[in-house]
Amino acid sequence: MIKVCKFGGTSMADGTNYLRVREIVAADPSRRYVVVSAPGKRYSGDRKVTDLLYETARDVKEGGHVRDAYEKVAERFRSIVHELGLAMDIEGVLAETADAIEHEGSEDFAASRGEYLAGLVMAELLHVPFLDARLYIKFSADGRLDGARSYALLREALKGKPCAVVAGFYGEDAEGRVKTFSRGGSDVTGAIVARAVGADLYENWTDVSGFLACDPRIVASPAGIPSLSYKELRELSYMGANVLHSEAIFPVREADIPIRIKNTFRPEDEGTLIVPTSKYDFLNRPVTGIAGKKDFTVIFLEKSLMNAEIGFAYRVLEVLLRHRVSFEHIPSGIDTMSFVVDSAELTGGILEQVEREIDEAVHPDRLSVITGIALIAVVGHGMSRKIGIAARLFDAIARAGVNVRMIDQGSSELNIIVGVENAQYERTVRAVYEEFFKDR
Ligand code: ASP
Repeated sequence: MIKVCKFGGTSMADGTNYLRVREIVAADPSRRYVVVSAPGKRYSGDRKVTDLLYETARDVKEGGHVRDAYEKVAERFRSIVHELGLAMDIEGVLAETADAIEHEGSEDFAASRGEYLAGLVMAELLHVPFLDARLYIKFSADGRLDGARSYALLREALKGKPCAVVAGFYGEDAEGRVKTFSRGGSDVTGAIVARAVGADLYENWTDVSGFLACDPRIVASPAGIPSLSYKELRELSYMGANVLHSEAIFPVREADIPIRIKNTFRPEDEGTLIVPTSKYDFLNRPVTGIAGKKDFTVIFLEKSLMNAEIGFAYRVLEVLLRHRVSFEHIPSGIDTMSFVVDSAELTGGILEQVEREIDEAVHPDRLSVITGIALIAVVGHGMSRKIGIAARLFDAIARAGVNVRMIDQGSSELNIIVGVENAQYERTVRAVYEEFFKDR
């Protein structure tokens, strides 16, 4: 049995937490490979090491040298090493790292040093080898992960090593430069390592006891989700449930490796188990979870006989492509079509240009733009098996006095997406939660 354990920023925040990690790893001999994040916040208002390193990259860009921000990073690691009483030459490592950041002069390199240093220290504490991800996690020339190569390199490196620590968050691009994943990307590294060694389980240790059925900032103490399918997870995390990086499932899904979300601060809690749909237990629940995000823009088009006009959507999409705008959904009717786009993609005059060009490209009878839309995704495989779920959903929203501006039922029947005005977002989530979870 092999488990790969990834520990997030809060679990790595200080020396006491490093000891918690050691205890967790020692409690189960199958916890063989450990992937670490950079130290996160110790208290609210504290700064994450990664954020300090992005500031360091700016300092180097402006003045050629590391400054106060790096000193703060150094202080974090000094105090961790001191708290743990480790005999490593942390001063030497920190000085070398500062030189390397100045020499490489890249933002990704600077940002990656949090995981690098955290991994070195963790390996020292656990008395196991440290793997610098730069040597094993490779990106192709198009910027995507080169999975096959990375799995092979990692497998080779870990062969014969009963235990090891791997730095999360980064790898190396086709030109030999350090490249990071997007923020929170150590989750992806954990999944890659799990896949490479053919783990039986990928444990993702964080500071919450798994997924909750909805955002606890909106509903007080929502129910936990004991199990999820990869697909449900993808929908929920894409739509804002921020427990796991939304790309972390791909490497493990291909190999049917389940993921368990665990809480470093409450290791006895079950957490959430994420499994392939085929091994998924519906638990007889129609809705698994609710997630959502604010600030979408809907570009609504109406044109008589649109259904018979070949290439209509194509021409609109060409405009979006030209401006490199990605869309989230395209709900459509016989003579209508709406393009739902994250409003952040349309700032700086892009929206106006897109509107003008769509108008020229397809001459719609009506083109209107609705901004300030929040999307709420109601997710669950169980929905397709039960009659009346949509009726209950819309009835609950109507009872809450909310006007639905848009509906999109994913073609997978795994989710129903409802668009409401931003101001009605919280109220809608509460109403939906009450409807499907109050009696559980
Ligand atoms: N340290 C990185 C971040 O703050 C990556 C991670 O923690 O997964 O985004």
